[in-house]
Amino acid sequence: MSNLSEQLLITSQKLVALGLNKGTAGNVSVRSAQGFLITPSGLPVDEMTPASMVQMRFDGSFEADKTQPNVKPSSEWRFHCDILKNRPEINAVIHTHSMFATTLACLHKDIPPFHYMIAVTGADTIRCAPYALFGSQALSDNALTALIDRKACLLANHGMIAIGRDLEDARAVTVEVENLCEQYWRALQLGEPHVLSETEMRDVFRQFKGYGKWAI
Ligand code: 13P
Ligand code: ZN
Repeated sequence: MSNLSEQLLITSQKLVALGLNKGTAGNVSVRSAQGFLITPSGLPVDEMTPASMVQMRFDGSFEADKTQPNVKPSSEWRFHCDILKNRPEINAVIHTHSMFATTLACLHKDIPPFHYMIAVTGADTIRCAPYALFGSQALSDNALTALIDRKACLLANHGMIAIGRDLEDARAVTVEVENLCEQYWRALQLGEPHVLSETEMRDVFRQFKGYGKWAI
């Protein structure tokens, strides 16, 4: 079994351990030599093995594992495929139904620059993509647009997507986006959060150049 399949499994397990995904919610993909590897559809993470991971090509075809004939690629393979096809700098995609991102996504809320750490997503807002049916091409189109110049977006009435140069980077973005959504949600309970100005955010982006793992 390829090392990438093991990494995909480990990332999926970490997301569950962090409480960011539960049950069969969410999915993960990583670019591979032939296209991309993606988690299987409708299988809880604790029932996945490296052999459950599905190898897909960018034309949407996949290699069925003869030992596991019931295993199909994630129902969200379209947005994983479209993101990896259209964003050459991105090699890993994570989708979660994590609590606070999903709560704000149910309000169709874009996240403004209420906290400087929003810069780790590559921009000063996290957009919420309009609602579309899970697994649909419309959802993929909406997500791709919401992700323009960004490493994260919310999916209305659904969850979030975070992307990165590798699985570790995508996971770090996922954790930070959920953290930001929780902070924004908590601040909203008390009033209207103060939003940083364009100039203040420009200074943040300058400060992030060369800042640890977030260096841009
Ligand atoms: P899959 O089990 O098919 O990956 O679906 C989970 C999900 O989150 C759908 O949006
Ligand atoms: Zn989902």
